[in-house]
Amino acid sequence: MGASIKCIGILTSGGDAPGMNVAIRAVTRAAIFNGMRVKGIYKGYKGLITGDIEEFKTNSVSNIIQRGGTILKTARSDEFRTPEGRKTAYETMLREEIDALVVIGGDGSLTGANIFAREYNIPIVGLPGTIDNDLNGTDVTIGYDTALNTIMQSVDKIRDTATSHERLFFVEVMGRNCGYLALNSAIASGAEAAIIPEISMEKDQLGELIEQGFRKSKNSSLVLVAESEITGGAMKMAERVKNEYPQYDVRVSILGHLQRGGSPTAQDRILASRMGVAAIQALLEDQRNVMIGIRENEIDYVPFQRAIKKDREISDELLEVLRILSI
Ligand code: ATP
Repeated sequence: MGASIKCIGILTSGGDAPGMNVAIRAVTRAAIFNGMRVKGIYKGYKGLITGDIEEFKTNSVSNIIQRGGTILKTARSDEFRTPEGRKTAYETMLREEIDALVVIGGDGSLTGANIFAREYNIPIVGLPGTIDNDLNGTDVTIGYDTALNTIMQSVDKIRDTATSHERLFFVEVMGRNCGYLALNSAIASGAEAAIIPEISMEKDQLGELIEQGFRKSKNSSLVLVAESEITGGAMKMAERVKNEYPQYDVRVSILGHLQRGGSPTAQDRILASRMGVAAIQALLEDQRNVMIGIRENEIDYVPFQRAIKKDREISDELLEVLRILSI
């Protein structure tokens, strides 16, 4: 069956992540290497519905390995959430003679891929493209390492000013309801703590944490906060401290979209290249409805249903490392 795939479509969907271009390049070249045609679908599922599609050759993906963002653009499509929208998308695939899809995106994009694949019996392979690292079955997602490095460099700069003024800084980072970005960037930047949705932080725990940091005569305190309705974000943390500990000079820095940009790190480039090649290999092996994951440095095929299950646990070991090193 895999051998009957003559033409694949490739799209990026949801939030952009550094390394998506690397994945587009790898999928395109691996497909052409294996005798397949490749069609680039612009603006995610939106482009699949409207037919915003272009044939890709090997040189269509030249000189993009170092570029952040996605040359295919990305979008959120409400229409694709409806059966009518997906029907139109399927009709586009028939018209364009696209036999299989490679979808690069986060949990929403892979949820959509799972529904679409089952509805129309289409071979679809997903690549985890999101800075949030919130997918199951893979140690890391494409873009995560670059975002971590960007955050670390930003926090290093914030630390300079925080120390000069003896301030307490709450730095808010992305991650939706997943605390990996906040926790690992806290470790990498030597922050005092990470406030993450997986651990419910009581008000007095927060106060204790801040007092401890200051009591140990630290020049400044940096606390990384994962954006999330559960944590309430950095603004809410700062409000709490202002009300309860008005003696502290509190500041908030919300890093925002700069976390999504930039040239992908070597680690992300290697990851996205390996995963892109693996996506085509998976299609050749007649795999479908799977996301390419990486576990203990080995490529793995993760059924969509498992990949998108929202039960990823935070590592106790990482929490302990942060706790020990912040004394
Ligand atoms: P990120 O994690 O970076 O935000 P994401 O892939 O999770 O990326 P979403 O906005 O959640 O981003 O999803 C991207 C697109 O996937 C949606 O705009 C929609 O077109 C499609 N999608 C998401 N959930 C569904 C669903 N339940 N049914 C059909 N399509 C869906």
